Amino acid sequence: NKQVILRAYVTGFPKESDMQLRTTSTITLKLPQGSTGVLVKNLYLSCDPYTRTQMQHSDTPSSFRTLTPGSPITGFGVAKILESGDARFKQGDLVWGLTGWEEYSVINATKIESLFKIKNTDVPLSYYTGILGMPGLTAYAGFYEVCSPKKGERVYISAASGAVGQLVGQFAKLSGCYVVGSAGTKEKVDLLKNKFGFDEAFNYKEEPNLDAALKRYFPEGIDIYFENVGGKMLDAVLLNMRFRGRIAVCGMISQYNLEKPEGVHNLMSVIYKEVRIQGFGVLNYYHLYEKFLETVLPAIKEGKITYVEDVVEGLESAPSALVGLFTGRNIGKQVVVVSQE
Ligand code: NDP
Repeated sequence: NKQVILRAYVTGFPKESDMQLRTTSTITLKLPQGSTGVLVKNLYLSCDPYTRTQMQHSDTPSSFRTLTPGSPITGFGVAKILESGDARFKQGDLVWGLTGWEEYSVINATKIESLFKIKNTDVPLSYYTGILGMPGLTAYAGFYEVCSPKKGERVYISAASGAVGQLVGQFAKLSGCYVVGSAGTKEKVDLLKNKFGFDEAFNYKEEPNLDAALKRYFPEGIDIYFENVGGKMLDAVLLNMRFRGRIAVCGMISQYNLEKPEGVHNLMSVIYKEVRIQGFGVLNYYHLYEKFLETVLPAIKEGKITYVEDVVEGLESAPSALVGLFTGRNIGKQVVVVSQE
């Protein structure tokens, strides 16, 4: 069983050498006797920014920091059931959910609640790591439930070309909003405008003054900010929010590798503008998954929503793919193919 393990706890920016490819010589392709879990063959793995936050040591006990040196990285993926000790799954079923960065995983009964059976296979299976999986549900719950969008509102999205951002932008366009996104390269900016239909997009790395850039695109201010980045970006946005604007705090990727997160300086502007800032975690919105599928699957099939993936081959490519999320190497949803069947 080939595996990617965490070699040592990570400090600062993650490096490929924080992880290691290991091959265990014996594979027992059998569930332990009496197990009520499932044995799966992993097909596609998802690289997600939150994994970095699980790779560091912490003295504070947290159910979120689950990775330990010497053990395989865990994360979302698409897999095929080889053997099942749970009546809800049978051999041959395709599932998405939490699995391991390895060829074969045993998902025990305590983790099985996070597995979803894949019923629609007339779309690329890898989509269940992205648009039809955790990041897709994040975009859906974050935009529709947390932002409460209205037609004509002005929406800004940071890290807009990524797994979550590209979808938020398209939802916002379908809701009749004016949508602007930022990303870190010209190629990504072109994608936002030409493929995902954003009204405007800019390269934040080429803007010496983010406040001025936002004033250029939002002369009347921002109604909804979908926050993926944090730090200086959030500070600039706070200066540009409209009265009773909403900020959905989805992530703060610019802060994950810092020993001490940067401070936020412009928070006072939320008082007189009555801005609502709300964080959210997708795990608390899983009950919306079926409703989400009913919206997104037809939209994909009718060509109303499109999705860009950045696919690399083989478990050995997974460490660099994960590290690449923090340098912006990925163009779209970062997927690792472990096996095609
Ligand atoms: P992406 O596919 O967008 O990949 C990450 C991107 O972030 C990179 O490509 C890069 O794009 C950008 N980035 C990296 N470092 C920085 C930085 N220092 N400053 C600004 N941008 C940076 O990732 P996802 O779409 O999967 O995730 C987006 C956000 O959503 C993350 O913050 C993530 O943690 C969060 N998230 C939250 C969830 C929740 O439940 N709340 C669930 C899933 C994701 P660029 O080239 O544009 O810089």
